[in-house]
Amino acid sequence: MIKLAVDGGQPVRSETLSYGSQSIDEGDVEAVVEVLHSNWLTTGRMVERFEQLFAEATGAREAVTLSNGTAALHAAVAAAGIGPGDEVIVPPMTFAATANAVVFQGGRPVFADVDPGTLLLDPSMAEQAITPRTRAIIPVDFAGQPCRYDELAKLAEGHGLVLIADACHSLGGVYRGRPVGSLADQSCFSFHPVKPITTGEGGMVSTDDPDRAEWLRSFRNHGIDTDFRQREATGAWTYQMVRLGYNYRLTDIQCALGLSQLRRLSEFLRRRREIAARYDTAFQELPAITPLKIRADVTHAYHLYVVRLKPDGLRVGRREIFQALRAERIGVAVHYMPVHVHPFYRERFGIGPGLCPEAERAYEEILTLPLFPGMTDQDVSDVVEAVEKVLGAYAA
Ligand SMILES: *Cc1c(COP(=O)(O)O)cnc(C)c1O
Repeated sequence: MIKLAVDGGQPVRSETLSYGSQSIDEGDVEAVVEVLHSNWLTTGRMVERFEQLFAEATGAREAVTLSNGTAALHAAVAAAGIGPGDEVIVPPMTFAATANAVVFQGGRPVFADVDPGTLLLDPSMAEQAITPRTRAIIPVDFAGQPCRYDELAKLAEGHGLVLIADACHSLGGVYRGRPVGSLADQSCFSFHPVKPITTGEGGMVSTDDPDRAEWLRSFRNHGIDTDFRQREATGAWTYQMVRLGYNYRLTDIQCALGLSQLRRLSEFLRRRREIAARYDTAFQELPAITPLKIRADVTHAYHLYVVRLKPDGLRVGRREIFQALRAERIGVAVHYMPVHVHPFYRERFGIGPGLCPEAERAYEEILTLPLFPGMTDQDVSDVVEAVEKVLGAYAA
């Protein structure tokens, strides 16, 4: 048998392949440079244009830029009126920022377990978590697969709750013919470099409600009721701060990059799906791993390619497989440690392991393989080769 790199053998690659990475082309660079030569570096036309094109792309009436995905979630939670004593249902299988946004407003995140096949919030678990204090639900389109929005919307409507989608993984995804961004009262996006499109750092909230969009624009600008150009248009020199807001603005430099990236989204999605299909085919032969389930009524955006290891088929645990793949220079990752087991949540809310058994079990078995549009066919082959090599060596 071939000696694993972790045992001193030759690694599959000479340089590490990361699990995610941005794709920047000359057009992206030119768009940014053009703004740098203009008069407006922030609060200018590029912001509006990016918001308009984004709203069109997601089928929402309005889109509001924010400085990052976490700020987008915070703004959406604040716009939903969440405050001290309010409960918000969130899945544990997500980045901590989903739940943190609730805590920023003094609310309490209530963790409802995920479906073990898809790792998406299970609507029946969300229903069981509803109490008289529940005000909102934040489903997360984990890995890029849209959640079961029809059931979640019905649940929200029936109980008078606001539905906020954490769509940070799923820009470009489709659910029952409707694009991600138009499936909830508010949908939140991130433009961090590993996400579907990037602005370096950046975020967006899409909504069909113009009043809510206006509220969000004020919240991102210190809680001021009008912006500089609106005042200029009406000839007024004064402004009023009507609520406590933040400086959560996205610059024109970033919005120019976002616009250029958004025009490339379908190209990115096509390449992501192509790579995922190659993995699917290759891993059909491997009994020790199963890719996550994909429902028939969605188009997956493939932010992440997540597999579950089958403990019965292996002599070692996830830790050893992870280390062996890293030694082969494959930048595997784990998304995510369930949020409710982080020390902050245990201490602040008196919760911990045992609360969401499906998410906790999944956490022991999941592995994220590299997937991003800039991967070459050789990169994909390297990942497949390394996975076959490592799982073969550790087969039970
Ligand atoms: C990336 C991400 C966020 C936070 O976005 P930032 O832009 O990094 O602040 C929130 N939720 C999920 C699910 C994410 O993947």
